[in-house]
Amino acid sequence: MRTQVGIIGAGPSGLLLARMLQLQGIESIIIESRSRAYIEARIRAGVMEHWVAELTDEVGLGARMRREGLVHDGLEISFAGQRRRIDLKGLTGKSIMVYGQQEFVKDFVAARLDDGLPIHFEAAGVSIHNIEGDSPRIRFTDKDGAPREIECDFIGGCDGFHGICRPAIPADKLSIFEKTYPYAWLGVMVEAPPSSDELIYSSHDNGFALHSMRSPELTRLYLQVSPDEDLENWRDERIWAELQTRLTQDGDWRLNEGPVLQKGITPMRSFVCETMRHGRLFLAGDSAHIVPPTGAKGMNLAAADVKVLAGALTDFYKSGDSAGLDGYTAQCLPRIWKAERFSWWMTQMLHLSPDGDGFDRRVQLAEIDYITGSEAGARSLAENYVGLPFD
Ligand SMILES: Cc1cc2nc3c(=O)[nH]c(=O)nc-3n(C[C@H](O)[C@H](O)[C@H](O)COP(=O)(O)OP(=O)(O)OC[C@H]3O[C@@H](n4cnc5c(N)ncnc54)[C@H](O)[C@@H]3O)c2cc1C
Repeated sequence: MRTQVGIIGAGPSGLLLARMLQLQGIESIIIESRSRAYIEARIRAGVMEHWVAELTDEVGLGARMRREGLVHDGLEISFAGQRRRIDLKGLTGKSIMVYGQQEFVKDFVAARLDDGLPIHFEAAGVSIHNIEGDSPRIRFTDKDGAPREIECDFIGGCDGFHGICRPAIPADKLSIFEKTYPYAWLGVMVEAPPSSDELIYSSHDNGFALHSMRSPELTRLYLQVSPDEDLENWRDERIWAELQTRLTQDGDWRLNEGPVLQKGITPMRSFVCETMRHGRLFLAGDSAHIVPPTGAKGMNLAAADVKVLAGALTDFYKSGDSAGLDGYTAQCLPRIWKAERFSWWMTQMLHLSPDGDGFDRRVQLAEIDYITGSEAGARSLAENYVGLPFD
């Protein structure tokens, strides 16, 4: 098999890259290690920056998102017995779109398959070769057990944090910057209408909690827990008791409860790989960087990389101009680091540090008071949350 761009991974990065290339007449083949059913059921992010929603429209796949997604003009922060609203729209003129990542994935997979374009699901033993040469290769065993080889011009390394692409870059060409946190998120998806129209971030003396949603019928809730916490210790009754305590600190408002459809613990990490290109391999999304989910930036950063990469590949194929490909890492990194900073800042402002003392907690509460009480403070949060402009 031969194609122009071989794409490893059918997450948001790989699917968006393939779609943007397709619209420019550039061929690609996607190789995905999981099944279609698995990736379409994988619950992860849900907040799209305003421009990601617009990009989804531009690539012709925004119809269901516009019908079923929830446009939010603000968010709330709860602390010290009160709740304050950040008026995202009023402060920036922009809103965010709440639409589950798995729904985005479903829309892009369906469109690609309807167009008769290839995604090799359940590919085993995926490996990449000759990335420093002119025609890199991807080898894998397809779901029927047949060995396959794809020759391509470029490889899109869109295979997430645990994929095979980043490790294919020689260690001496990589600079890794990493931070781990002394907490994790226990997330539950609940069959119950959201208890508020907007997201509620809560900083409580028991720890952080977040009220979010994926649809008018599905609530997504998170609790700060220890990174070594055992899910077995969290029966539904304990989860509800803790969520009610942390999220309802401002009076008689209560969370809507319902059956817990899914629960899991996600560790928190900040990670940046400062080479996103090696030879003809280009990393995009979680394969190159990770943020803690507090700032809702993971999927949005993936889309930002892809926007740059798709533009650079288009320039190359349309006019032979490789400046965009040569400058790919340099163009992506400033936005990545701003998102890393924002995600780190939101995380440390809202979570209870196990090593913190009374002084630290009072400084934290003063910061939240400032951010939610000063227009300058709120505007900075809002500008980052809805998505920084592209240069
Ligand atoms: C458990 C979890 C929970 C998250 N929760 C949130 C959240 O609540 N809010 C938020 O904003 N962000 C969240 N994120 C972050 C967000 O989901 C990611 O930033 C986003 O998925 C990045 O998209 P991606 O396409 O780059 O990577 P991924 O979505 O990870 O996609 C990579 C794809 O590559 C495939 N793959 C991996 N290895 C191979 C291989 N060797 N060969 C072929 N295919 C391969 C994977 O199966 C996957 O389909 C979460 C991430 C994780 C991991």
